[in-house]
Amino acid sequence: MRIHTFDKILFLGMLFVGVSCAHRLKMTDLVPYSGVHPTLVPVVARFNAFAAQHIKGYCQPAIDVGFADLDNMEVKEPGDKHAIGLCVPSFLNPVRSRPAIYVDKDYWDNASEMSRESTIFHEMGHCVLNLEHNDQDVVIKGEKIKKSLMAPVEFGGYRYLANYQYYVDELFSETKLTGEDFQKECAHGKD
Ligand SMILES: [Zn+2]
Repeated sequence: MRIHTFDKILFLGMLFVGVSCAHRLKMTDLVPYSGVHPTLVPVVARFNAFAAQHIKGYCQPAIDVGFADLDNMEVKEPGDKHAIGLCVPSFLNPVRSRPAIYVDKDYWDNASEMSRESTIFHEMGHCVLNLEHNDQDVVIKGEKIKKSLMAPVEFGGYRYLANYQYYVDELFSETKLTGEDFQKECAHGKD
């Protein structure tokens, strides 16, 4: 079974050291994308709407969100894992000094609407809310589920849908950033 996993270039950066692998993803392998890809605009807009509900004064910082082929990113763990999303922080972005999100195109074409949203929200969690992975579990309605959309492995759109409000609230409750931080970022990041 193919397991979908998210990844962060920061983590990959650590793995670059002292390890050589022909299939290692390099920054130069990523096709630069400017702005939000039209296909992804509705999902990013939903994230922004939720963010505005949860964070007073929120505005979307400048960010690039596009597709890439992430198939070569099987670098982190043994087994048949496959990266579906990636957040490149601004200081590692070779194109411009703002964060970039990449979603694997093959994954996107075959994923459910909810799975797609959970992936974009996860990467926005990294790149916009400055969140790290959270692999904890929680019991809700008698079922053990992942505590957060920031779980390092995608847990399925149906689980996301079944606990939708919980996961959205959880995501935005974890950020340390305030509306003031976003206001500053937005004023600074205009280009
Ligand atoms: Zn992640």
